[in-house]
Amino acid sequence: MRVVTEVDQRRLDAIRDQLRCDGRRWTVAKSELVQAMLAAEAHLSARGLHEQLVSRYPQMDLSTVYRTLRALAESGVVHSLNDGSQTRYGLADRAHHHVLCADCGSLAEIPAAALDRLLATAESQTGYRFAGQSMTLAGCCGACRS
Ligand SMILES: [Zn+2]
Ligand SMILES: [Zn+2]
Repeated sequence: MRVVTEVDQRRLDAIRDQLRCDGRRWTVAKSELVQAMLAAEAHLSARGLHEQLVSRYPQMDLSTVYRTLRALAESGVVHSLNDGSQTRYGLADRAHHHVLCADCGSLAEIPAAALDRLLATAESQTGYRFAGQSMTLAGCCGACRS
């Protein structure tokens, strides 16, 4: 078991409880994938997640990672983001948007609350109601700008 922070442990417990309440199984693969995502604090590709896990779980193959990610996505615990070159998976238990670096492809999360007022203003100006829980802004990251 890797060392997890108290906040991560709470998020992990909440995700486990959510799945169990939905009548879904909480497996070692699910637990390990969610922990890897919490530890990385990033959206990772299935291959990237597999690399993180395979040293401790040599029997966990890439297809298990894909299958488990699909199951977690069906429960709404994980969402996926395709930027045209790769699909990355991130935890969806906290509402957020994304900003994607056009140069290096790095991805950061923007807490949804940071954009709530802006979106509400845009909705009243356009008369539209935004669908979907997250959007991706294009940008250039700090590392690429320096
Ligand atoms: Zn995300
Ligand atoms: Zn960059």
